[in-house]
Amino acid sequence: MAPKAIEMVEVGPRDGLQNEKQQIATADKLRLIERALGFGARRIEVTSFVNPKAVPQMADAEEVCAGLPERDDVTYIGLVLNRRGADRALATGRIDQLGAVAVASDAFAMANQGQTSLQSVEVAREIVAAARAAGKTGQATIGAAFGCPFSGEVSEDLVLAMAEAIAAADPVEVALADTIGVADPAHVSRLVGRVVEAIAPIPVRVHFHNTRGTGLANVWAAVQAGAAVVDAALGGLGGCPFAPGAAGNVATEDVTYMLERAGVSTGLDLAAMVEANHWLGGVMDRTLPSMVSRAPLFPGQLAQPRT
Ligand code: ZN
Repeated sequence: MAPKAIEMVEVGPRDGLQNEKQQIATADKLRLIERALGFGARRIEVTSFVNPKAVPQMADAEEVCAGLPERDDVTYIGLVLNRRGADRALATGRIDQLGAVAVASDAFAMANQGQTSLQSVEVAREIVAAARAAGKTGQATIGAAFGCPFSGEVSEDLVLAMAEAIAAADPVEVALADTIGVADPAHVSRLVGRVVEAIAPIPVRVHFHNTRGTGLANVWAAVQAGAAVVDAALGGLGGCPFAPGAAGNVATEDVTYMLERAGVSTGLDLAAMVEANHWLGGVMDRTLPSMVSRAPLFPGQLAQPRT
């Protein structure tokens, strides 16, 4: 059964941009965040506090934070992989929520963040605690939860145990991420269902990449299985520098269209989102992968000439 409403997290400014070869100007990142606020996003992953040598696109994390609009009704999320990143994020005074990452395979955990899978769970728990100690909130994402780019299949029991260990640290939610876009809806339905039941009342968020075209089907399966929060990136941009072949996130406008048409409220304004997509396509100088932004608005919303 689909719920009446879900919450969306806009991850475009971080996950959407982190793999772009061309350095995006800080001012354009801030415009993207303002556009996201404009189409109704109230939780936005604005940047990551990671080694700038490893992810040059996120080297301006502090500058992005300094330019964030002051909004009491918005949660700005900073992604961090270790204590040093957490300290940087908290030092900005502008990050409301720390997003930690635990990884379900040793091979990808080492490539992504130089930790074993077990260490990554411990670090994620510490980050959630550090956020709370600083008067903020923390959450954690389990990366490669549906498959690893190096070692292949990932055990569902392992992911479940990781989710339980992280939930014990009392995060605002635990997310399951299909970092490399290998999940299928049956797998999603099973694993999300098990994790929802295991960590209730802590909500489950999901994060899908559309590498193999299963992204939207996976979102639908997850929502039906009880996921309460869905990550998406405007335009379907995205990828991971440490996961070979990882392609874009599910597009915010495609997910919004699908859910709203199906009667699941997202609180987002699709027309404003399509406008934002066209603006972002201009900044990137290419057509972005999302499908809804390339189609006429439906129903009854013939595109207005832009002024
Ligand atoms: Zn991602």
